[in-house]
Order: sequence, then C-alpha cells, then structure tokens
Amino acid sequence: MTDLPNDPTTAIRTLTEKIEAHLIEVRRDIHAHPELAFEEVRTAAVVSRELTRIGIAHQTGVAKTGVVALIEGGRPGPVLIIRADMDALPIHEQTGLDYASTVAGKMHACGHDIHTTTLLGVAEVLRDLAPQLAGTVKLIFQPAEEAIGGMEAMLKEGILQGPNVDIALGFHNHPAAPTGQFSFTRGPGLAAADTFDITVHGKSGHAASPHTSIDPVVAACTLVTQLQTVVSREVNPMHPAVVTVGAIHGGQAHNIIPDSVTFRGTVRTLHDEARDIAESAIKRLCAGVEAGQRVRVEVAYVRGVPSMINDDKVIDPTIVAVRKQLGDVVVERGPVMGAEDFAVLSRIVPSFQLGVGSAPEGGTQGLHNSRYAPDEACIGLGVQALSRAALELLS
Ligand SMILES: [Zn+2]
Ligand SMILES: [Zn+2]
Repeated sequence: MTDLPNDPTTAIRTLTEKIEAHLIEVRRDIHAHPELAFEEVRTAAVVSRELTRIGIAHQTGVAKTGVVALIEGGRPGPVLIIRADMDALPIHEQTGLDYASTVAGKMHACGHDIHTTTLLGVAEVLRDLAPQLAGTVKLIFQPAEEAIGGMEAMLKEGILQGPNVDIALGFHNHPAAPTGQFSFTRGPGLAAADTFDITVHGKSGHAASPHTSIDPVVAACTLVTQLQTVVSREVNPMHPAVVTVGAIHGGQAHNIIPDSVTFRGTVRTLHDEARDIAESAIKRLCAGVEAGQRVRVEVAYVRGVPSMINDDKVIDPTIVAVRKQLGDVVVERGPVMGAEDFAVLSRIVPSFQLGVGSAPEGGTQGLHNSRYAPDEACIGLGVQALSRAALELLS
C-alpha cells in the first residue's frame, strides 16, 4: 500500500469521475477527425490544448507530431513513461455512430483515440496526485504506431533522456475482453514482425516447351511450400512462429512461361532465437531452389519491430495497483502474434503493456474493423488503472 495521507482509491476514483464526461467529449472529437501516421497535427493540437488547460508542461513537435509531457512528483525517484499512440487507420468507418469519422477512408479502428484520451485523463489525475509520487512521469503521445515507426522516431529525438527513463508502461484496448477487465502477459506478449519480398527470376518461353525455358512459377510454388517447413522443421516447437505468404504475382497467360514471379509475406516470432533461425532458413531455402531449379532468387528480408517483452518488475506492481483500485479485475493472457512498436521501447527499459478490456455488453467487432465500436467506459477505468499504477510504481 502506498503511504498516503488520504485513501488513494477514493481520491483516484473521485478525480476520474469528475473528468470522465469531458474525456468522452474529447475522445469523440478525436474520433470524428482521424489522422494517419505522422499526420496527427490536429490530434496533437487537441492534446496540447488539453495539457495546457490542465497546466502540464509539455513539448510538441517531437518526431513531427508527437507530444511529451512531464509530471514531477513530490519526492525524487525513478522516471516512468506512460505511452499512448495517436494515429488512425486507412479504413472507411461503417459504425453509423453520430460521432463517426468525418474523413472518408480514415478511421480510429484500433482505438488510439481511446488511448490518447485515457492518457489525457491520467495527466489530469496525476497532476493532483503529484505530491504523492516519488519520481517523475513522462507522458508520451506517440505518432505513427500503425505505420510502425513512430516509437523509433521519438526515441531518436531523445525521449529517454532529460530526465533519463527507468521503466515504461503502455496499454492497449482489447475488444475481446469486457470493459472493466484488465490483462497481462508475462515475457513476450507480442511478436516480432519481419517482412520478405522474394522475386524468382526464370526465363520466359512457350508453355509447350518448358525445356527451353526456366520456369519461375514452379520454383516459386516450391519455395512457398518449403517456407512452411521453417516453422514446422526448423524453429524450436516451444517457440511460436508464423510464416505467411500474403501475396503472389506472376504470369498472365495459359501458354506462356513468365520471366519472373514475386511473392511477399510476414514472419512473426516471439523469441529472438526463432527470429534468427527463421531469417537464415528462408534465405537458405531460397538459395536451395536457386541451385535446384536454375532460377535466380532475390530476397529482400526486412526486420521490423522486435517482440514485445513484458517485464515482471513492471507487471507485478501494476497488477497489484489495478487490483487495489478496481478489485479482482486482472487476468493473465497468452501472447498473440500481432506486433506493436511499443516493443522497441520494451527492449531498452523494463516495460509492460497493460490490456484494457473495451467490449460493450453484447460485444463489438475486433480491432482494425470498420465497425469497431469500443465501450467508452473503458476510458475512465483505464485512467483509474494507469494512475494507480503510476502511484504504485513511484511509491
Ligand atoms: Zn492497430
Ligand atoms: Zn493499436
């Protein structure tokens, strides 16, 4: 229990209840005006306006559209990042809500409007609790999570310095879980997401004379099939991995062997060892088909974000805090093979991404769906959970 003169549970709940209606208004405004990666100019202006209104020092224009705010505690202690992302998706909204997106083809379908607003609420609650914090809270409003690159860009701008950051807390809404439920995953919680673009070069010719051509279609098909053996035969079976070919293009006629075939896909892994094995196996299989089928195979393998590692040092005090604040509402979840660029931060400082249940009664569509409509009650509950976590982590 944090050593406070007043009961922190009541203090946080009361403060949150006072601002909840306003937060929902802000969320609906952001929701109606979605902006894609690194274009979050209006959203960042809303964030800055709100931070100014509540009297919190902050810096705008960090990595183009990011905002960084600081709340100094009453006593010295570690520096804690709490991070929200602000960008929307290139999806045309079909919820029919009266505050639905006003921008054709853009939508907050991942709930980053919820995240941004939740962090604004945390800012306001922690402003009032600051004297009780032993340490500093750095609030990160990050651009371009969906494009994967916003976190990297903000790190390059030095968000881990001045003051130096010790631990980080992230959060994401979860439409598969009911509002009011929170979740955690120990260790790797989200996957590393790498991509490959493979071009198989052959030699074009008449389909009836394959012996005078070099057929890239057969070679590409061999490769696509062989790539499935990376997971089944090469990676440790205790290490989850996915290799998916998502696109394949080549040729256009019944009777022509084409010059080349291209295909592309993604590799997801939770463990660095599996990631290394997958990359080298894919390159080796390409070289093997090259030798075996006379084609030339070009591989562009690009490493994206690493897997996200949740650290017990941040998880344990956080779930204790959420339970103190909201009761028996925290469950453990297994990892998923999606990816998030909070992972980049998780590889530098001990981090944890808290799951925030966001399904209304009767459920809703999942993330990245044009009909995704989270329960706005998850904002206030998220504010309470994260504010209490900050209090606990900086106690
Ligand atoms: Zn997303
Ligand atoms: Zn997201």
